Amino acid sequence: MPGKIIEVAMQEEFRSCPTCGYRDGFHSMFQRTEEGIKWLFICPSCHDTFDLGFTVDQMVKQKA
Ligand SMILES: [Zn+2]
Repeated sequence: MPGKIIEVAMQEEFRSCPTCGYRDGFHSMFQRTEEGIKWLFICPSCHDTFDLGFTVDQMVKQKA
């Protein structure tokens, strides 16, 4: 489980890591919260996690 979650505002693009400067994009992760499912982005280099405010509106049927 990643550590701190850093809230960032979406600019024209979100590609470079604000923490370490890694430039080639992010891994995705999803976290179930009271408000719904958050879509979070993990830097592959420093592993900080970023919240751009995205949520997942709809899930396909879950397998048991
Ligand atoms: Zn980073």
